[in-house]
Amino acid sequence: MKVVLQNLTKRFPNRNKKGDDVIAVNDFNFEIPDGKLIGLLGPSGCGKSTTLNLICGLETPTSGRILFGEDDVTRLPPENRGVGLVFQNYALYPHLTVQENIMFPLQNLRGADKLTRPQMLEKAMTAAKLVQIDGLMERKPSELSGGQQQRVAIARALVKMPRVLLLDEPLSNLDARLRLQTREEIRRIQQETGITTIFVTHDQDEAMSISDMIVVMKDGVVQQIGAPQEVYDSPVNLFVATFLGTPPINVLDGEVKGEKLYIGGAAVCDVPGVGDQPVSVGIRPEGFTLDENGPFEVSLSRVEVMGRDTSVVSTHPASRNPVIRSIIPARNKVDRTRRTVRFTLMPEKVFIFDARDDRRICFDAE
Ligand code: ADP
Ligand code: MG
Repeated sequence: MKVVLQNLTKRFPNRNKKGDDVIAVNDFNFEIPDGKLIGLLGPSGCGKSTTLNLICGLETPTSGRILFGEDDVTRLPPENRGVGLVFQNYALYPHLTVQENIMFPLQNLRGADKLTRPQMLEKAMTAAKLVQIDGLMERKPSELSGGQQQRVAIARALVKMPRVLLLDEPLSNLDARLRLQTREEIRRIQQETGITTIFVTHDQDEAMSISDMIVVMKDGVVQQIGAPQEVYDSPVNLFVATFLGTPPINVLDGEVKGEKLYIGGAAVCDVPGVGDQPVSVGIRPEGFTLDENGPFEVSLSRVEVMGRDTSVVSTHPASRNPVIRSIIPARNKVDRTRRTVRFTLMPEKVFIFDARDDRRICFDAE
């Protein structure tokens, strides 16, 4: 099911009367293609949950429309939209077994949709098998691990075979290893069922790893929409560049003069076609090559061995962060007896941003 958001806006009145309304979602336009998994990504408070609540009908938009396929669902109550919802806290009924929890949404069906108990049991079993908890049907939630409880919550969201599946930070309560495993599970389930899915997270790794497309939000405003790699390789502004990537992109003050990018006094990179101006410079950690004649010289702080790669930690007066991190292949040895290290920079890993509005200034990196 295709999901269309048209000029979707949600204002919350400011409680203390003075001050402005909070615009939690500001003119969101997006057509989510059928059967895709969309990662909705941004820092806490940027409007992710509000967007999800608008799509499922828990909130009514101040303006704008929501369509599922050709149906305008903007004014439909949640139960008539055909959405499945999973939240961070699994919100299972503690006194019900796993089976009863999963079946719960089916028991409210009325009229032509009403199911017999054997039909409900069968649907619950199908959903349980999808999330691989069909062996735990008689347990109570208290007898399950966090990961298993979240699977039950996902099965419950799937049992009606929703048109759209909405997941709001579903992995936040799980430990690191289980988070990794469960996100892969979610991807598998989504691909097996083909249900259009929106996955909300503040964790960029999580969103990048399983999404067909990511939407990056800030202060209620969509910053960029695209395939994860495309957004990583070509961020539209400094915010998006810094939000994606671990370790994060290095940000420095720079200046363009004569179609060259200067950091401190050194010309570090050609920027053909860019006019003279002060800029913010972003350099991805993987954009450095050790080179004793390289133009970019930093003060060496330490070298961290990571196995496959080596992380060179350094400082530079133009850096906006306390340290610069460069990730280089482990076979390239850093001379630790020296106080400084020199690099050449890979032009496609160097981004420059307008110093006034943080928008990216594109140049031909060849
Ligand atoms: P996220 O899920 O990205 O952390 P939310 O969608 O929960 O963000 O919130 C977006 C903004 O809207 C925040 O500034 C939040 O304080 C505000 N907000 C959310 N819900 C309400 C509400 N019911 N009343 C007033 N303000 C709200
Ligand atoms: Mg939220």
